[in-house]
Amino acid sequence: MRWENLTDSGHGRAADAALFGADAVTTRTFDMPEFRGITFHEVRARSILNRVPGASRMPFEWTVNPYRGCTHACVYCFARKTHSYLDLDTGLGFDSQIVVKVNAPELLRRQLASRRWQGEHVAMGTNVDCYQRAEGRYRLMPGIIAALSDRANPFSILTKGTLILRDLDLLTRAARVTDVGISVSVGFTDADLWRTVEPGTPAPERRLEVVRTLGEHGIGCGVLMAPVIPFLGDQPAQLRATVRAIAASGATSVTPLVLHLRPGAREWFMAWLAAHHPHLVRRYERLYAEGAYAPKWYQRRITRQVHDLAREYGIGPARAGMPRRIGEPEPAEPVAPEPTQLSLL
Ligand code: SF4
Repeated sequence: MRWENLTDSGHGRAADAALFGADAVTTRTFDMPEFRGITFHEVRARSILNRVPGASRMPFEWTVNPYRGCTHACVYCFARKTHSYLDLDTGLGFDSQIVVKVNAPELLRRQLASRRWQGEHVAMGTNVDCYQRAEGRYRLMPGIIAALSDRANPFSILTKGTLILRDLDLLTRAARVTDVGISVSVGFTDADLWRTVEPGTPAPERRLEVVRTLGEHGIGCGVLMAPVIPFLGDQPAQLRATVRAIAASGATSVTPLVLHLRPGAREWFMAWLAAHHPHLVRRYERLYAEGAYAPKWYQRRITRQVHDLAREYGIGPARAGMPRRIGEPEPAEPVAPEPTQLSLL
């Protein structure tokens, strides 16, 4: 692995310096149960506001990702591919080799103050979960939220992490001065499926408690129902149970998104499928024969079913991947979501 070489001998320094600055990397492990087996690579990033390539298809143009890699370890996570750009493993390496941009808050504050910055919406949680376990230790999000809030810069956060409630006061304060959209990702409520396919995440019902608590504090929270996993989480009774639980949490919206399997995620997911549900391998190969996305007819079917259930349970639909901003009216008609760059948080 390039970074082990880097710390030992300096090999690879030029490439890493290009990404993270000449200060390069400090590698740490912590002997605590929640961090066992995880290696943190602390870097000083050179830039923290990232422009989304092909942003015209996205509901946002700018993102902030204070980490790379994610201990939530969702088998299907499409962001796995990003670890290969650092010569890190996209399987277990993605789950346990976490890059921490330790200067993210100060860097963001500086970039937001630039005369070139136009105050555009900043989306977080699009490529990594900023409330993964590492955040409990590094506490980067309070500084990031404060930097955005001080500039009244609109932002959104998509997460599976209950740790977001630690920052409730900051979020409430931010929502008084700018548009803040929070969205929690819950693709299903099936406990067996959760344990195997999202092994590092808080349980779905705990995530829905986050939705409830945010709502009780005046921060409307949408649910990205993602991913809906074909043949494992898409049965009518499963969809109903999930939408019912989402409705009970007081979510302001529900947006379904079917599993997509891009290179990096596809190999890891298919290996998991072969180990846990071998009888489904052929069906998946057929369903995803055309590439990363399930066929349109399948996506439309799931979208229709979820929107019908959402209407039945009194939840409003939202735009794909975009948490409804506080005070923003809900769309009049259901909007079929397009696949986005979201990592299916
Ligand atoms: S899908 Fe989201 S929460 Fe899961 S591993 Fe990827 S970035 Fe983390």
